[in-house]
Amino acid sequence: MNRQEALALDAQDPLAPLREQFVLPSGVIYLDGNSLGVLPKATAARVQQVVTQEWGTDLIRSWNSAGWIDLPQRVGDKIARLVGAGPGQLVVADSTSVNLFKVLSAALSISAADAPQRKTVLSERSNFPTDLYIAEALCRERGLRLQLAEPEELPGLLNEDTAVLMLTHVNYRTGRMHDMAALTAAAHRAGALTVWDLAHSAGAVPVELLGADADFAVGCGYKYLNGGPGAPAFVWAHPRHASRFWQPLAGWMGHAAPFAFTPGYRPAEGISRYLCGTPAVLSLAALECGVDAVLVSEARGGMAALRTKSLALTRLFAQQVQAHCPQLQLVSPQEDASRGSQVCLGHAEIGYPVIQALIARGVIGDFRAGDKSHPASALDILRFGFTPLYLRYVDAWDAAEHLRQVLDSGEWQRPEFNRRQAVT
Ligand SMILES: *Cc1c(COP(=O)(O)O)cnc(C)c1O
Repeated sequence: MNRQEALALDAQDPLAPLREQFVLPSGVIYLDGNSLGVLPKATAARVQQVVTQEWGTDLIRSWNSAGWIDLPQRVGDKIARLVGAGPGQLVVADSTSVNLFKVLSAALSISAADAPQRKTVLSERSNFPTDLYIAEALCRERGLRLQLAEPEELPGLLNEDTAVLMLTHVNYRTGRMHDMAALTAAAHRAGALTVWDLAHSAGAVPVELLGADADFAVGCGYKYLNGGPGAPAFVWAHPRHASRFWQPLAGWMGHAAPFAFTPGYRPAEGISRYLCGTPAVLSLAALECGVDAVLVSEARGGMAALRTKSLALTRLFAQQVQAHCPQLQLVSPQEDASRGSQVCLGHAEIGYPVIQALIARGVIGDFRAGDKSHPASALDILRFGFTPLYLRYVDAWDAAEHLRQVLDSGEWQRPEFNRRQAVT
């Protein structure tokens, strides 16, 4: 493909106007919306209004008059539309790590009640580390075993010992997407429950939690939902499970009547019991703007249309890189069905300085170090997230061209690109 053809695709793109909703600094091609989504234009004014009017003037009355107290459910209902969940089934609270602790704990309590002989939590070796750490801690506490495997090994490892299959739907390192419905069905046939992390899925790829018959899910507010740095996360439990057990962080916001101030805990019915403490109102206001910006796509085909464009963008970028940068290995799946919204390229040595050289050119991706202790994930990863809400075909084309130039010129060898910073 040449640059003219990429420009022609943009001219015909029915989703192109969605880009207008965002603040996009000039001279930047932003391929890191999978790590921190961009700022919606509506956010600054909305946060300003919450600060000056709702907080500054209306003060504590805003818990009722501005509906602050219902924000976790209100924003949760909007996110539910993006992940195939029903209204009243999903709330926004805390971080992804904390929500994973809650749902994995609840899933293990259900398993312990229904099938106490099951002693294993099964996950993927290259799952995001915080997910593995949370699972490791819970397994230690409960005398269980955390079993880690490669993705293709998972179905064969589900058996009468498996309590929970805990996976991230789209892998952060490889961009590989699991078949949620098939793996959930396999887990259920083996008698296990499923916990899905949607950090790289919500707002990026279509998800059908109810359609896949998943058991529990969590996800992130600051990636493809554009909620801003440290935005609160979300948590979903299938209605058949939501009221079965206490989640372990039994705070007052998850109480059936928080303002009765009774000394004993009585959990709210349904997903609201997964709340813990006071909602982060300013962050929730910002997250709502980010989610609204995704929901605007509903008038133009919604997640299905976003998925079509996302696949076209990642295909274009991957094809250009494969044609012009043979030293890089395509780590993300070639086939559309199992590729998330990112392209991951592997190299044994020069990933970090190449990414730094690209950032200096205004092409922002990121770097994830390889796991040298394990051959299957030893390569360093150059990671490029493609957010179809605000990226153009020409951005994908230009980014690949910059990458070619960085490699062909040897620019990445400059000392300033080889000094490691704290956040990669
Ligand atoms: C981004 C991400 C997280 C982030 O967790 P925090 O609690 O927000 O730090 C967790 N899990 C996965 C799979 C992620 O991609």
